[in-house]
Amino acid sequence: MSSSHFDVIILGGGPAGERAAVQAGRAGKRVALVEREHVVGGACVNWGTIPSKTLRESAIFVRELTTQKIEGIRCEIKERITMADFMHHERVVVQRELELINRTLEKYAIEVFAGHGRFIDPHTVSVTGKDGRERLRLRADFVVIATGSVPNHPPDIDFNGETVFDSSTILRLQRMPESMVVLGAGVIGVEYASVFAALGIQVTLIDTRDQLLPYLDREIAALLKRSLKKLGIVLVQNDHYRKVETAPGPRSTVRIYTRAGNLLEADVLLYCVGRDGSTRDLGLESAGISPNDRGLIDVNEFYQTVQPHIYAVGDVIGYPALASTSAEQGRQAMRHAFNIPGPRGRTEMLPFAIYAIPEISHIGVTEEDLKQGSRDYVVGLGKYEMNPRGQILGDTDGVLKLLFETDSLRLVGAHVIGTSASELIHVGQAFLLNNADAYQIAETLYNYPTLSDLYRHAALEAIAARRRKRGG
Ligand SMILES: Cc1cc2nc3c(=O)[nH]c(=O)nc-3n(C[C@H](O)[C@H](O)[C@H](O)COP(=O)(O)OP(=O)(O)OC[C@H]3O[C@@H](n4cnc5c(N)ncnc54)[C@H](O)[C@@H]3O)c2cc1C
Repeated sequence: MSSSHFDVIILGGGPAGERAAVQAGRAGKRVALVEREHVVGGACVNWGTIPSKTLRESAIFVRELTTQKIEGIRCEIKERITMADFMHHERVVVQRELELINRTLEKYAIEVFAGHGRFIDPHTVSVTGKDGRERLRLRADFVVIATGSVPNHPPDIDFNGETVFDSSTILRLQRMPESMVVLGAGVIGVEYASVFAALGIQVTLIDTRDQLLPYLDREIAALLKRSLKKLGIVLVQNDHYRKVETAPGPRSTVRIYTRAGNLLEADVLLYCVGRDGSTRDLGLESAGISPNDRGLIDVNEFYQTVQPHIYAVGDVIGYPALASTSAEQGRQAMRHAFNIPGPRGRTEMLPFAIYAIPEISHIGVTEEDLKQGSRDYVVGLGKYEMNPRGQILGDTDGVLKLLFETDSLRLVGAHVIGTSASELIHVGQAFLLNNADAYQIAETLYNYPTLSDLYRHAALEAIAARRRKRGG
């Protein structure tokens, strides 16, 4: 078997692998990228981030059409609407993204090998085709593991693709169900529950925890809970499935028996409790690397595994498992390996977004963190209902919450729930990174009418709160 020598082999062509490849390619390195699917892009482009966000836009559109009444305009939705109707735009977006990625890979002369990559030894990777036959062997000075994650599948659930789905298969639904149970209220579960509810499907969301998204600021989580209820979602908390069975009949349904004694029957079950690192059949033992029981790989601050020349980045190393952080980890690993200038080490002050309906985004600490750390703080709220842009948009439930240290009035946390939250958070991110205080935020001039102007309102409120606190 002939083998070629590269500066670096990258396993996996999702955002982590693609960005690692481009960073190394730009530095003039010879790069091999191994991808087992027929396209690059990974979960982000093909079956996760972009498809789910495109469906979400359709869901919002449908909801607005059916709930906002404008005199003289009547909209109808055909009776037999299918998933394919909603996903038409997704194919256009995905195609465009793939074109851009392929063009970039070409520009930096990245050599892409189709097939399943597996370690033969710490510097050698074999590439196997769909037929299970080894096609070639690649050798390199460095290797990057960027194989992503896969949905967790408990052995007692039959993921039949007809009544039971996971987050990678749900968008292949053949018909629009009337009812759905979503098991797991993590980010993906909450997002899909709200999207399908907005499309008019009766959704029950089972949360295995007693607190919805426990890392969120509790005030924001309470607003989310209220919004999910408004969408018609039934939220069951602190419960787990005991048994899942498909009920026979002309139109099969799925029954979920829970530990708390509930029996839920629906057209479809979407199971999304956790994801595991995609490290099965990767030959890690031949490279001297042992993943943990969830398939995740341990790395140091430079994303090196126990083998210093083998890096691991993206979902395969676990938290935070986002497209943005995965891409940045890929770049940083290559900067470290090839001594390329640029930011090093783990990224701090990450913005997080949850594309539920409504959207949520946050950066920095929560009110609960401040209480726990016994730090003295003041809060400022900017309410969409008091903001002309919020009124124009018809979003009167949205809120921007800013947290400041009392003494310095320095911003330490920003939280948004409402329209464009994931965009709006970057204003807060810029203020946070520049150590801005409430006065600077209040004195900044914003376009009018904009949601960004909420920052001024929230900062003014915090200044007033501090005055009251000090008896002024
Ligand atoms: C439904 C859903 C919605 C999401 N929404 C968001 C969001 O809104 N925002 C956000 O930031 N993130 C979101 N994410 C997370 C985001 O998609 C991931 O964090 C990101 O894709 C991880 O990138 P990655 O490169 O590490 O892995 P992946 O994108 O999973 O790519 C890994 C690639 O490796 C390939 N591979 C695996 N094993 C091998 C092998 N042995 N040989 C060759 N190739 C291999 C796979 O085929 C795949 O293409 C979402 C995820 C899902 C599932």
